[in-house]
Amino acid sequence: MKLKVTAPPPKYPFVMQHTPKSGNSVNGLGVAEKIRPHQVFHNTGRGAGRKAIDWAALDTFFNMSKPWSMFSANMLTWWERRNAAGPVFGEPVEVTDPQAMAEEIKIKAKKFGADLAGITLYEEDIQYEGRTWPYKYAICIANTMNINDVEHTPSKRSSAEIVKAYRRGSKSANKIANYIRSLGWQAEAFGNGEDIMMIPMAIKAGIGQLGKHGSVISKDHGPNFRISLILTDMPMALDGPTDIGVDDFCTKCQVCTNACPPGALSDQKQIVRGIEKWYVDFDKCVPYFALTHGCGICLAICPWTDPGRGAVISQKMLKRRQSGA
Ligand code: SF4
Ligand code: SF4
Repeated sequence: MKLKVTAPPPKYPFVMQHTPKSGNSVNGLGVAEKIRPHQVFHNTGRGAGRKAIDWAALDTFFNMSKPWSMFSANMLTWWERRNAAGPVFGEPVEVTDPQAMAEEIKIKAKKFGADLAGITLYEEDIQYEGRTWPYKYAICIANTMNINDVEHTPSKRSSAEIVKAYRRGSKSANKIANYIRSLGWQAEAFGNGEDIMMIPMAIKAGIGQLGKHGSVISKDHGPNFRISLILTDMPMALDGPTDIGVDDFCTKCQVCTNACPPGALSDQKQIVRGIEKWYVDFDKCVPYFALTHGCGICLAICPWTDPGRGAVISQKMLKRRQSGA
């Protein structure tokens, strides 16, 4: 996709000129053991174990300097949180067919506005250190962003659309959680700004694969969506990770690495908390993200974002791999 605005250079106001501590070291870059992550930026969610973050000043600057369109959409999203949890209605219905229940939940997810849905086990080990939720399953949903707004990134227009997509996701997640509670099972929804790791669970749930730009890429919508979660104990059949050829494509593509204004993306995978993966340099990305109120250039220009192109790329990559070319 060709962007319709020129991105500003990475020149920062005072609060962003020097990070108080390297976000990469907080995040476990280069750490060989599998340890739980720590937050670098954003710390607004709920639950036990919240701690002050090293980058709180930048987080505050980001929140205080938002354009009104983004701020008001954010407020509405936070207001949505009142529906994220609640009492269950009666005794839990017996789930005799977890596969059928999984299908039912995915149909409901679509009805409630989600564009993609997948189910996986909730995994505590990949959550932020000290954070815990007492659930067994995670339903991951994706709500897409309006492509006509995304192509104007970074701008007030695209920033507002990002927050609106989060709000749509929060609403969808709340409705799904409420539906599960109506079946007598406890469920809690997690939308924008929650201190919960969404990307690893979305990958496990088959929403897509990790791209070089650090976001999940799906076959049908590329990375053009925002993720929300619902945690519950209601039994459902699980999905597994998907292989649509993202890694094959990213290995040869440099569109995002070349487009990122502060140079936060690398063509080499890195070891992060014991896993080798594509990695975004926090110290370069986050200040620019704050400066531009949400950046997202790497997502907008990713070839998988172009409508209809993902399925073609995926087919080509998998075919090429099969033929050994
Ligand atoms: S722009 Fe290219 S390298 Fe970057 S995530 Fe998308 S496909 Fe991968
Ligand atoms: S969001 Fe971060 S990684 Fe992506 S283009 Fe902007 S600064 Fe670079």
